[in-house]
Amino acid sequence: MTDIATRTQQILERLGAGDPFTADGDLVSRSPIDGSELGRLRSHTADEASELIGRAQQAFEQWRTVPAPVRGQYVRELGNLLREHKDDLGALVSIEAGKIVSEGLGEVQEMIDICDLAVGLSRQLHGLTIATERPGHRMMEQWHPLGVVGVISAFNFPVAVWSWNAALAFVCGDAVVWKPSEKTLLTALACQALAAEAGRRAGVPEGLSAVLVGDRTVGEVLVDDPRVPLVSATGSTRMGKEVAPRVAARLGRSLLELGGNNAAIVAPSADLELAVRGIVFSAVGTAGQRCTSLRRVIVHESIKDDLVARLRAAYETLSIGSPLESSTLVGPLIDESAYAGFEKAVAQAQADGGELVTGGTRAEVDGDGFYVRPAIVDMPKQTEIVKAETFAPLLYVLTYTDLDEAMRLHNEVAQGLSSAIFTLDVREAETFMSVVGSDCGIANVNIGTSGAEIGGAFGGEKETGGGRESGSDAWRNYMRRATNTVNYSTELPLAQGVEFG
Ligand code: NAD
Repeated sequence: MTDIATRTQQILERLGAGDPFTADGDLVSRSPIDGSELGRLRSHTADEASELIGRAQQAFEQWRTVPAPVRGQYVRELGNLLREHKDDLGALVSIEAGKIVSEGLGEVQEMIDICDLAVGLSRQLHGLTIATERPGHRMMEQWHPLGVVGVISAFNFPVAVWSWNAALAFVCGDAVVWKPSEKTLLTALACQALAAEAGRRAGVPEGLSAVLVGDRTVGEVLVDDPRVPLVSATGSTRMGKEVAPRVAARLGRSLLELGGNNAAIVAPSADLELAVRGIVFSAVGTAGQRCTSLRRVIVHESIKDDLVARLRAAYETLSIGSPLESSTLVGPLIDESAYAGFEKAVAQAQADGGELVTGGTRAEVDGDGFYVRPAIVDMPKQTEIVKAETFAPLLYVLTYTDLDEAMRLHNEVAQGLSSAIFTLDVREAETFMSVVGSDCGIANVNIGTSGAEIGGAFGGEKETGGGRESGSDAWRNYMRRATNTVNYSTELPLAQGVEFG
């Protein structure tokens, strides 16, 4: 057994997930750090998945009657457990998803933050009172729990995405059945163990939180089950295009958080030092494997050479290696297919006339992990490869002459998740955020495209799927709205002045 495998087992033990492995399991759990096998797990069958959904449905029927502020106590317990186990869960994220230590811990902090938000929200779920045209009547809205929420998540935020959905869903009175990525099952089982312990402390019904182990076939069980009124799916646009029509075919709801192809415009007035810092973090953080990773820089022709030279210099100092080393800034790609995608995109960009500024090759690190030198490619135009999301640290540079051209290039891609402008010109900044500016769900000024806070609604437009999770009024996704009209008069006036009898 490797050191990483031994450490993983100790962490799982401390998190209450015991030993989840079975020698004849059909799924191999690997660490991208060195490609080593951590153990084997057995997938749930379709019948087992269906049974877990049924148990969640029963738990929901009890849970929905618990007052929301009392439901908040469960999420408070979960947040407390996450605080207590932050180091272990963060390390497990690093081991399983390859994030550097600080980003692994940051992901757990994000879970803690959403729990805090949800606990407060449990005393704030509210509807409107609306003016009625009928005398002696009152009209209002109520928000009721929805049912079993299905959560499908991607490998790159193996725990935070579940918590964004689950913390809100639990206070809203729902049950949650989670189908995590088959590449990051251990972190999911660890979260489930913490959720189970929080449930024991808060006295919640058995089965309120469940995890389905398996690949997309198990996900499809969740997608097709009519007992699941909402499927919240995070992953590639390809996955969303498969999931959304299936959920719609049974008239269920879907909340989609799909791929991005995020850009930053760098204007002539930009503070270049700040822009370089923002660009480098967004483009190479998590080895370019965030949905919000920066993939395109659209720079004004007058400052292009200066910016590219600064970026090249910054890229050449990046430390690439094991994410468990405190000095590392760039960890591994998740697996070989991610590496193949990176290699292919770099070659295609060059075939399209792009000039490789730096990086673009495999970095040698001990073990069988897939590490790369983050790449910058200077492109003569926005070709098809630039318009596609390559889930790796590959940054394209495009050049513009006026802001209209920059906005056209910016909005020309199919995805619409995150965006940024670096400028000190208030007219440019406001135009970028205006109706004729960025068409993304997130539009930042003098900040990179990644690293959102949980207080705002998170998500994007176009092929990113249109969903919003996390803060603001995203909680409404997890509830159903009822409009109630009460007549406290002795008459029965009809709306629209209709006379009847
Ligand atoms: P993926 O689409 O390969 O898999 C995501 C999840 O969907 C996995 O759990 C997988 O088993 C499941 N799945 C795949 N096909 C399915 C189907 N037909 N039915 C049911 N389930 C199915 O994505 P990935 O490689 O794990 O993650 C990377 C992608 O996720 C990138 O495109 C990234 O931009 C996106 N992402 C988006 C967000 C966001 O918030 N917008 C966040 C994280 C990741």
